[in-house]
Parts: sequence; C-alpha cells; structure tokens
Amino acid sequence: MEYRIGVIPGDGIGPEIVAEARSVLDCVAQVFGHQFQYEEILLGGASIDACGVPLTDEAIAQAKASDAVLMGSIGGNTTTSPWYQLPPDRRPEAGLLKIRKALNLFANVRPAYLYEELKGACPIKDELIGEGFDMVIMRELTGGLYFGERGTEEIDGILVAHDSLTYNEQEIRRVAVKGFDIARKRRKKVTSVDKANVLDSSRLWRKVVEEVAKDYPDVSYEHMLVDNCAMQLVRDPGQFDVILTENMFGDILSDEASMVTGSIGMLSSASLNDTKFGLYEPSHGSAPDIAGQDIANPIATILSAAMLLRYSFDLDREADAVETAVKQVLAEGWRTADIYSEGTKKVGCKEMGALICERIRK
Ligand code: NAD
Repeated sequence: MEYRIGVIPGDGIGPEIVAEARSVLDCVAQVFGHQFQYEEILLGGASIDACGVPLTDEAIAQAKASDAVLMGSIGGNTTTSPWYQLPPDRRPEAGLLKIRKALNLFANVRPAYLYEELKGACPIKDELIGEGFDMVIMRELTGGLYFGERGTEEIDGILVAHDSLTYNEQEIRRVAVKGFDIARKRRKKVTSVDKANVLDSSRLWRKVVEEVAKDYPDVSYEHMLVDNCAMQLVRDPGQFDVILTENMFGDILSDEASMVTGSIGMLSSASLNDTKFGLYEPSHGSAPDIAGQDIANPIATILSAAMLLRYSFDLDREADAVETAVKQVLAEGWRTADIYSEGTKKVGCKEMGALICERIRK
C-alpha cells in the first residue's frame, strides 16, 4: 500500500529521534512491501527561524494533505532561547496548539506500558505491579474545563474567579467511539472515568458512554470515579486496558500513568480526529539540554510511529513487528543513557534505531 506521511522533525532532539523513527518506517515498508512517501513540515522554533512564525498556512495544508503526521518535539530552552523573547502567540508552543486545532484533534491517546526489563524504574512495589501493566489513556482534548468560559471579577471587594466545564453529547460520543474502537484492537475493556456523583457534565458523560457501549457488545466496560481511578493506578495498574475520560481528568491521570512506567524516553502518544488521520509524537519535550549529542532515546518516537501504523493505517502486523523489535532490543540489554543501569549495554540514538531496524528485518 502507498501512504503519505507528514514529518515534523521540530527542535532540540526532534530531528535526531525522528530520523530514527523514519528509518524504522522505511524498514517496515521494505519488509512488508509498502510505500511511504514523506513530506517535511516546519513547526515550532524551526518554523520561526525559517518563516518568522511557529506555523504557516502552508504547513497546515501539508499536514492536511497527509494520511498521518509523525512529529518529534518542538520548543527550546525556555529561559535562554530567543524564541521565548517573542510574544506568546509567536512562540514555538503556539504552533503546536494551532495545528492541533486546525486538524481538529479531539482525542489524545497515551499508552503506559511497563517493560519487564525496566521494572526497576517503576516506583510501585513489586508485589503491587504483579505481571506488569499495559494500558492506554484516551483523553478528550478540545472540550471541558480548559476550553470553557472563564473570568475573574471583584464582587463586594472580594476577587472571584470562575471556570466552566461544559460538554455536549456529540463531543462525548466521538471520543467514546474512539475509545471503544481502540479497546477492540486491544484487550477489549473500557474503564470510563468521571465524577458522576457530583458533576452534571459527568452524568451526561456516563449516559453517552452507555449508549456508545451498546454498539460494542464485544467490549466490556465499567464506570469509575476519578478519585478512585487515581488510587487504583498506583494500587493495581494491571486492571486497566483503556481508560476513557474527559480533558482535565485525562491530563492528570495520563501523567500519573506515565510516571508509574518510570521512563519518559519510552512514552508515545497520538492525537486523533474523526477520520483515520492522527498526529503522532513522543510524550516528552525537545530536551534541548542533550540535543545534537546522539544520546537521546528514540524509542518513544519509534513507538509513536508504531501507533501511526496501527491507528491511521490499520497495519496491525507491522505495528506489532515494531513493538516486538523494541522489546527484543531491551531484552538483549541495549539501553540509551536515560534508561541505562549497571550490567546493560549503553548505545546512542542512532545505534538504538539501527538495532530496532535489524530486529524488524530478522
Ligand atoms: P523535556 O521532556 O524536553 O525534558 C525533560 C528531561 O527529560 C530533560 O532532562 C531531558 O534531557 C530528558 N529527556 C526528554 N526526552 C528524552 C529522550 N527522548 N531521551 C533522553 N532524555 C530525554 O522537558 P522540558 O525540558 O521541560 O522542555 C524542553 C522543551 O520542550 C520546552 O521548550 C518545552 O516547551 C518543550 N516541550 C515540547 C513538547 C512537545 O513538543 N509536545 C512537550 C513537552 C515539552
């Protein structure tokens, strides 16, 4: 099959980690007989340097013309980089918010997976981790409290601030459908997280999730209150498959879930709209402190490329091959500096990419 992939190398370590993810995609194309065409797109600091703005209309058009976009990360050192002397709407991060909006990316997916070999980095006790965990957090990304009406005013000499949390049933339905679709590709269990004992928006959330669930008789589902979910994530993370939740709860729970994996260089993510299109990127930033030294961990970006294959192209076998290759390389003891421990073998960014390619070819 032939696919067009938009590629945003971005800033800092972005170009290095994206180069390795591209090599892995090339390798998948070779082994499985596909054709991937790449189109480079400027975003963030790289776009400011070349075009004076963090995102151009041309870049948006390029992204829209792609079947999916793979991104490194954007941004620089926020205290020393001249990009941060610019007004907020001209800084690198403004480009990212703008492209997410332009592409209507309303669903964010972040996997949290514990690799047996990296168990030592997990802050939870062995007896609680058990067999490990393998979950994804499906977070609504464009509604709720972060996008609601807000304001601060003085009433009778006292400052009063308010933020409003609004969801309509369509916003809930489209992200719930994404959550159940993804559960179907996994262990077929959805945990919908809300605060329905207090919030009206959560009661609507629960009602709509129940309606959507009727179309997925093969997927089991449960409701869980957000405070309980926060506890369960550190008490028994193995119980979760897909956690489906609204914007603010997802923001907090996805960081909690990432933390329990213990390694930021391993965490992939995807932002999806209501077509097969998605923007795939590592969960970490552009790590300007280690840029250009060939020591960054490319695995989060390589796993983001695997998500791209699975969710945008429905190439499950190919995605499995990438994920298995990553596991194999870790099992053989290869580590980049961020996940290195005594007794393992330290490699740079390029070598880690090359090792993963070799295992896919085998
Ligand atoms: P960061 O994630 O870039 O770095 C935090 C720490 O983790 C650093 O010590 C870094 O060296 C390390 N690290 C991160 N990724 C790594 C990798 N793949 N391999 C090895 N080590 C890695 O967070 P930060 O320093 O707070 O932010 C740096 C810049 O990135 C800022 O401009 C910020 O705005 C931006 N940022 C961008 C995104 C994005 O593009 N989506 C996300 C978060 C932060």
